Amino acid sequence: MKKIAITGLGYSGLISAYEILQLCENIEITIYDRSAANGAGIAYNSHCNSHALNVVASKMSAIEDKADDFTKWLLDNSLIKEEGVADTFFAKRQYYGKYLLSILVDMQQRYHDLVKIIRVEVIACNKLSDGYKLTMADGRLAYYDAIILANGNTYDSNKINDNRYITNPWDFGYLEKIKTGVHVVIIGTGLTLVDIILGLQEKGYKGKLTAMSRHGLLPTTHQFYKEPMLNYVSEFLANNPNVRITDLFSIVKSKAREAVSNSHDWRNVIDSLRPYTQKIWLKMDIVNQKRFLRHVRAYWDILRHRIAPDTAKQVKSLIDSKGLITIAGRLKCVQTNDQNIVIAYQARSKRNIDYIHADYLINATGISQNPDSYGVLFKQMLADGLIRWHENGFGLAMENDCLLSSKENVYAVGPLTRAYLWESIAVPDIRKQAKRLALQISDDLHK
Ligand SMILES: Cc1cc2nc3c(=O)[nH]c(=O)nc-3n(C[C@H](O)[C@H](O)[C@H](O)COP(=O)(O)OP(=O)(O)OC[C@H]3O[C@@H](n4cnc5c(N)ncnc54)[C@H](O)[C@@H]3O)c2cc1C
Repeated sequence: MKKIAITGLGYSGLISAYEILQLCENIEITIYDRSAANGAGIAYNSHCNSHALNVVASKMSAIEDKADDFTKWLLDNSLIKEEGVADTFFAKRQYYGKYLLSILVDMQQRYHDLVKIIRVEVIACNKLSDGYKLTMADGRLAYYDAIILANGNTYDSNKINDNRYITNPWDFGYLEKIKTGVHVVIIGTGLTLVDIILGLQEKGYKGKLTAMSRHGLLPTTHQFYKEPMLNYVSEFLANNPNVRITDLFSIVKSKAREAVSNSHDWRNVIDSLRPYTQKIWLKMDIVNQKRFLRHVRAYWDILRHRIAPDTAKQVKSLIDSKGLITIAGRLKCVQTNDQNIVIAYQARSKRNIDYIHADYLINATGISQNPDSYGVLFKQMLADGLIRWHENGFGLAMENDCLLSSKENVYAVGPLTRAYLWESIAVPDIRKQAKRLALQISDDLHK
């Protein structure tokens, strides 16, 4: 019997365990989580009714080989009336959390001797001659043949020691303490900002919100277009074996213009890239990857990560009523005093420094790129050379899409692997990756 440990019971850890148990025999899995996570993780644990998925239900099956699994679950639970609805339905994220819990419960029932969940933080992983030793925060030790890192999304750790500064934007408990009328400044204008706005509105907050990011761009909106998916990317890739970001950018721009002039939807141009994004990323050299991250990412993020139409309506009405002001600018420094928080920033088009006074400041800058934010386990594994940080600075360096190094049986899945794969954050990408991980584990452990 081979023993595997998974660190993290968010979606990535859950679905990796599920796929491995489906495929492999003679494997025992222990999943560690320092929180009460039950498969939902950060993303699907929100109790806000207004927090919806940003992908339609029909594309959100958690399981690669069961495309309609989530749709069936919604039907079984009377949350939709007929199957076709799932193509345009953005379910509440808390429903998705319940769906993932049902998969966890089912997995535990079917494989009860083979899967164990332990609620503790893993703080160290050491290589031994015949496997790996894990050390837990409570001093326990355990020994495994392989380790899967599924530690997930991490925010930038707190640099300002003040309880009016919210470091963790995904622990929505802080929404309760923000009273109506106060001025809230949010750093970041992406999907996390949208969650914060909707959460505050749901709690009855009325007041002034200011959101700032380098470009000040808000996410775009999903729309359902009828024309068939464009196909220009395979030809582009065939003609450009080494993808240069400038070439890719210009073809996407010209295709979008062409689509709009033919009364088609620009979203088709972006969506047609989706099946190829990992391939494109892997073909880019480090210079082009860094160029993309520095110059193109802000635009890609808002075009690719779109919000549900109803959500967009709420955001628009807040902007129209001047309840939300967005600023394109760079944060320079933050100072706190007894009355408020003073934020110094430089607007994108200006040279001088401006100041905003806030009652609360919320960090909504997304997933951290700083390895120090990933806790003691990563610090130790990086120091011991068991894992490496990718040269593009965006996450772990990988041997392939789930194996960290050909010399080790250490694997990673989910957002941690985005430096290597770029698209490994959303459910449709992670479920494919988990399936490939199961195949890799099966090969490696049964050699
Ligand atoms: C707010 C939000 C909304 C999203 N909405 C969508 C959506 O609508 N559609 C979509 O396709 N994708 C969405 N995503 C993206 C995607 O689904 C998530 O990135 C995915 O759920 C990641 O899961 P994960 O298990 O890798 O990470 P997480 O959910 O972060 O789980 C990681 C777990 O690891 C545990 N952990 C970490 N370190 C340790 C340690 N050392 N020891 C023990 N435990 C540890 C943590 O406690 C945590 O429970 C969303 C993401 C976020 C953040």
